[in-house]
Amino acid sequence: MILSTHAVVGGAIACLFPSHPVLVAVAAFASHFAMDAIPHWDYPLRAITSKSRGNNHRLLADQKIFRDLALIGCDACAGLLIAIWLFATPATIGVIVLGALAGMMPDPLQILHRLVPKQPLTTLQRFHRWAHTKRRLSWPLGISSQALFAASVSWVVLTVG
Ligand SMILES: [Zn+2]
Repeated sequence: MILSTHAVVGGAIACLFPSHPVLVAVAAFASHFAMDAIPHWDYPLRAITSKSRGNNHRLLADQKIFRDLALIGCDACAGLLIAIWLFATPATIGVIVLGALAGMMPDPLQILHRLVPKQPLTTLQRFHRWAHTKRRLSWPLGISSQALFAASVSWVVLTVG
C-alpha cells in the first residue's frame, strides 16, 4: 500500500496505546505486512523498481530516481501530517509520529536492502515480498479502497479509543 495509508494506520495504532511506545513501534511495523497482504494499488516507481542491464537490481543513478524520491517523500509527509492531524494531542504527538514512521518503515528498508543487500535486510525483504499480495488492483479502485480502509480504521479508533 502507499505510505500515507501505512502512516495513518500506524498513527491509529499509536492512538490506542499512547503510553506504550515499544508496543506501538512493533504493532505499527507489523501492521505494514498485514496491510500489504490486502489487494491494492501502488504507484509505479520508475528507477527504484527497474533493473539495470545484466539483471542488476541496484538503483539506477539517473533522473528517474529524483522523481521517485520526490513521490515517496510527498507520500510519506502527507501520511505523517494526516496521522498527526487525526490523532495527535500535544501530549501524544511523539508517539503518533513514532507509530506513523514505524508503519511506513518496511518500505524504506526495501530501498536500503537494494543499496546494502545484507542480513537482516535480506530476510526482511524476503518476508515482505512473501506477505505482499500478488493481486494488483487498478488505480481508481486500488486507491479509493485504501482511502476507505484508512478512514474506517481512523473512525473506529477515534470512536472506540
Ligand atoms: Zn510494503
